[in-house]
Amino acid sequence: MAEMPVVELQGVERRWGGGGLLVAIESLRLVPGEATALVGPSGCGKSTCLDLLAFTLRPDRAHRFAVTARDGQVHDVAAHWAAGHSGALLSLRAREIGYVLQTGALLPYLSGFENAMLSRRLLGLDGEGDLPGLFAALEIAAVVHRRPAQLSVGERQRVAVARALAHKPHLLLADEPTAALDPYQAEKTFALLVNLARDRGCAVLIATHDPELARAAGCRIVPCAIEPGRTAIADLVMA
Ligand code: ADP
Ligand code: MG
Repeated sequence: MAEMPVVELQGVERRWGGGGLLVAIESLRLVPGEATALVGPSGCGKSTCLDLLAFTLRPDRAHRFAVTARDGQVHDVAAHWAAGHSGALLSLRAREIGYVLQTGALLPYLSGFENAMLSRRLLGLDGEGDLPGLFAALEIAAVVHRRPAQLSVGERQRVAVARALAHKPHLLLADEPTAALDPYQAEKTFALLVNLARDRGCAVLIATHDPELARAAGCRIVPCAIEPGRTAIADLVMA
C-alpha cells in the first residue's frame, strides 16, 4: 500500500460569483517528502486551489477532503466545513500548514527572525525550535536580524519560507514563490523547497506558471487545465 497522504482531495469545487470561473479539483494527493508543482497560466485558479487547501476559502462542494496530521490522525475537512467547525479548521491550519504567500507578507516592523518566530508564537511553542537550522539551510542566518526593508527580495522570500516551516507543518503551500526572483534565485528556491520536503518529511505544493523550472527541480507536476469558465485540476497519481 502506498504511503499515507498528507492531503487527499476528490471533487472539491469553488465557483467564483457572477458567472466567474469554476475551479474544480477533481483529484489531488500529496505525500510526505514530495514536492509537487501546481502548474498553469495566470488566472487559472492556482491561488484558489492553495486557499482551499489552507482552509481560507470555503469549498462549495467537497466529496473528499482529508488531511493527515503529523501524529497520524486523519481529519475530515469536508465534514468540518459542512458542520461549520471553524475552530477545528483554524487549529488544524495553525498546527499542520505553512503558507508562503506570493508577496511574502512579512511584517515590516519586525526583524526577519521575529517574523519567522510568528508561526511558533501563534501556537504557543517554546523557544526557537530548529529555526537556526532552517536559517542556515536557507542561507539567511547572517541577515535575519534585519527588517524586511533591509533585505533583498530573495532574502525576504526565504524568511517567508522559514516562517512557514518554523512550526514543523505537515503541509507547506507556496504561491508563486519565485515570481519576483531572477532565474538563478528562482532555481535555487525551487531546489530548496524540494530538499526541505525530503529532509523534513512534509508535503510541499508550489503554485507556478513555469513548468520547466518545476520539472528541472524534480517536482512532480499537476497541471491546471483551463477551458472557458472552468479549470480542472486532476492528479494522475489518483487516476
Ligand atoms: P491564479 O492564482 O492561477 O492566477 P486565481 O486562483 O487567483 O488564479 O484566480 C482564478 C480565477 O478566479 C480568476 O479568473 C479570478 O478572476 C477569479 N477570482 C479570484 N479571486 C476572486 C475573488 N475574490 N472574487 C471573484 N473572482 C475571483
Ligand atoms: Mg495566483
